[in-house]
Amino acid sequence: MIKKNISRRSFIKKTGVITSIISFSSPSIFSSSTDDKRIIVIGAGLAGLSCAYELDRAGYNVLLIEARSRPGGRVSTFRDQFSDNLYSEMGAEYVDSTDMYVQEYCRRFNLKILPARQYDGIYVRGNKLSMDRIRSGIDNLPYNGSTKGKLFGQEVNYIQKWIDLVNKKGINSEEVQALDKLSVEDILKEGGAPNDIIELYTYANATESTTIPSKISALAMILSNIKTSGFNENTVEGRIFGGNDQLPKMLAKKIENRIKYNSPLLRLDHNSDGLSVTIKDNGKQIKISAAKCVLAVPTTILKDIEIYPKLSNEKIKCIHEQAYGHAMKIAIQFKKRFWDNSDSLGARIFTDTVLRRVYHFSIDQPGPRGIMLSFTSGKDAIKLGKLSNVDRDKITKNTFSKIWKDAPEFWERAVSKYWNEDKWTKASYTFSAVGQKNFREILSKHQDPVYFAGEHTAIQRASMNGAIESGFRVTDELKKAMNNL
Ligand SMILES: Cc1cc2nc3c(=O)[nH]c(=O)nc-3n(C[C@H](O)[C@H](O)[C@H](O)COP(=O)(O)OP(=O)(O)OC[C@H]3O[C@@H](n4cnc5c(N)ncnc54)[C@H](O)[C@@H]3O)c2cc1C
Repeated sequence: MIKKNISRRSFIKKTGVITSIISFSSPSIFSSSTDDKRIIVIGAGLAGLSCAYELDRAGYNVLLIEARSRPGGRVSTFRDQFSDNLYSEMGAEYVDSTDMYVQEYCRRFNLKILPARQYDGIYVRGNKLSMDRIRSGIDNLPYNGSTKGKLFGQEVNYIQKWIDLVNKKGINSEEVQALDKLSVEDILKEGGAPNDIIELYTYANATESTTIPSKISALAMILSNIKTSGFNENTVEGRIFGGNDQLPKMLAKKIENRIKYNSPLLRLDHNSDGLSVTIKDNGKQIKISAAKCVLAVPTTILKDIEIYPKLSNEKIKCIHEQAYGHAMKIAIQFKKRFWDNSDSLGARIFTDTVLRRVYHFSIDQPGPRGIMLSFTSGKDAIKLGKLSNVDRDKITKNTFSKIWKDAPEFWERAVSKYWNEDKWTKASYTFSAVGQKNFREILSKHQDPVYFAGEHTAIQRASMNGAIESGFRVTDELKKAMNNL
């Protein structure tokens, strides 16, 4: 045990296992204040950026440490890979009307949000279906037990019993909370849903949970049905006009002297007096001391960082077990926008093929070239993720040709990004798995002087908005803690 009144210097010496200790003395980074007010934020995704930016605005002495050479984390706009200044979102894409933190930052930084295109067509079980004909009830989805007139939300008919239970007994009742022991598949089966509906849910829910219905908590699914009207084919989604990376870049610019890139955190030593972080910098290990630290990295990364003394057992359990799905994006540059031809199924397609969601991305960019984006997840992302780029391309091209016969003629190049193989993410984004209802609360709880941000700690998890929400939450927690110092 480390004694509480040990000085920071001797504490760091006693707990460090470092080959070389170099004091970090760049004046541009740690300005005049003493250790007592320093806050180190780890991870320049939207969670870490918003936290560091808000703390800086409030007058705190912040240092933001990032493993990569760029800000944004899972917000990643590819710009150099395409011709004619085309770009593509390879990570976070959509901003909803309820995403108040993103909307507020966009207003503050004069970034416009451009509505995305709605679904035009469906390609499932080898059938091409027009969305208009599905909407108007002329054509049916080829899934046993589905309701006419809609694509998304087909599961609702089979979960009414539990929606009624929540309305009658309340969210916090034992009966409702017990749903966390069951999966979405369990309750759909119990509610009489045919296997087809369970399969369709996998695809319809693919971007929300990036996994399969047998892994998702039934409680999370029922509550999301009650709290929100649910995503459907008429939901208007937006994207930041000109590329989502502008938001993290704007935040980073505001605090550019306070960010240190290419410096992964290796180790954190802490006690009630303060802490030291060990980072890699130009091949060397260096230590930096501070009063507080915010860890804003995914739990898939956090689990491999050495932290002494260890975090609480419940926190360690959640860090190791937090569920994430699999996600991949594939951007394809075409010579011509053949999807606008009159005989095409359309420019935004829902499909049960490995591509899952395919849509014209470059709607705000001039042609004639254009980018089609596939957002695939779950088993299909795993399957493609195991392949070489050449084999990924082959399967993608072949699948495109089934949906649009003209695709091979205009195909130029494909670029893929599989987030589960990304060194600094190793995941897609969190979902609430069976038995994980308390995880968010445990993961977000601070263990002074260590604080936790990131989408996995947010109420609106798995989103840019959630990441920023967590940045604001930790800023508030730190302001309270620092005022008492
Ligand atoms: C394919 C995909 C599609 C998505 N689509 C949407 C969408 O449409 N809408 C939406 O709102 N959200 C979407 N998301 C989710 C959204 O991207 C995330 O919820 C959000 O960006 C997470 O931000 P964060 O700051 O919590 O984590 P991250 O963005 O992962 O930031 C963590 C940062 O920590 C850094 N880091 C890691 N290890 C270390 C280390 N050891 N030392 C220092 N730094 C380290 C990383 O490099 C990274 O910059 C999507 C995500 C993916 C992957």
